[in-house]
Amino acid sequence: MTIEALGTPGQAREWCRLSREAGASLGLVPTMGALHEGHLGLVRRALEENDRACASVFVNPLQFGEASDLEKYPRDFEADVARLDSIGCHMVFTGTLEQFFEGELDRGGSLPADRLLHPGPQALGLEGEFRSGHFEGVATIVDRLFEVASPDRAYFGQKDFQQSLVVSELARARGGPRVVICPIAREPSGLARSSRNELLEPRDRERAACIAVALSHAARAWRSGVRSVEALEGELAAALDRPGVELEYATVRDPSRWSPGGPTWEFEEAVALVAVRIGGVRLIDNHLLGEPGPVTLPPAAEPRG
Ligand code: AMP
Repeated sequence: MTIEALGTPGQAREWCRLSREAGASLGLVPTMGALHEGHLGLVRRALEENDRACASVFVNPLQFGEASDLEKYPRDFEADVARLDSIGCHMVFTGTLEQFFEGELDRGGSLPADRLLHPGPQALGLEGEFRSGHFEGVATIVDRLFEVASPDRAYFGQKDFQQSLVVSELARARGGPRVVICPIAREPSGLARSSRNELLEPRDRERAACIAVALSHAARAWRSGVRSVEALEGELAAALDRPGVELEYATVRDPSRWSPGGPTWEFEEAVALVAVRIGGVRLIDNHLLGEPGPVTLPPAAEPRG
């Protein structure tokens, strides 16, 4: 094993400092672990574009609303280290909330509300609405990770579309690092890879394939000229209307101009965003509608004459 696996943010800070002193550029990949091909794609990209790449593995309690969701979240640090090592990642670090926010926690072990960062308007609506406080937690830990590692570039996935906007704005406001957004890695069924997929029963995993089908229907409609938000949402909703699939939202936004609700202006690009619960597991996905859908749909039935 050649990767440096560091147990505290303090050790990571020192490693990154020495790395900078040696003149090496650094790419950081923040993760919550249970690493899969989606995460590894980000790390590979960081390795391509920097002299060194490091990943953080921290299941950040600040961004979880439901305690049960936080408890259920899969964790396997040793397996994560081995995966990162196998692709040549230089360093991985983890730590506890206490270590990340040394001397800042209250007696109950939480970060006081006035220490949380408030993200920009990109946090409004959708995830910001369904997971109240989520983006405050994300912005607060991402800012701390940026501060610990001082990377040249930081890599995030388009899988968490709204998060990618929030962290890009955060990085812009603090003057770095450069944020690189990487494409969504999918399973053969089209299901976006996610650590949460591990929590799905086999039957629910099959069901979850309808998310990529719904995105593909919306993409087909968009590419055939449909521009009405309602009609595009109708495509999504119809494909997601399946037993065992509980819809939180299925909607469309203009990716070049975030709005908490659907765009009320004419938009030239569109992103469809979906959040559902299947078997108690919350899954999100999205797709830029100008691109072919994540799955190939059977040809549309000819209207009967
Ligand atoms: P997480 O561990 O879920 O917080 O994810 C860490 C990073 O990996 C985030 O920037 C995610 O957007 C990204 N990511 C997660 N799943 C995927 C995927 N299927 N494809 C691309 N990036 C992903």
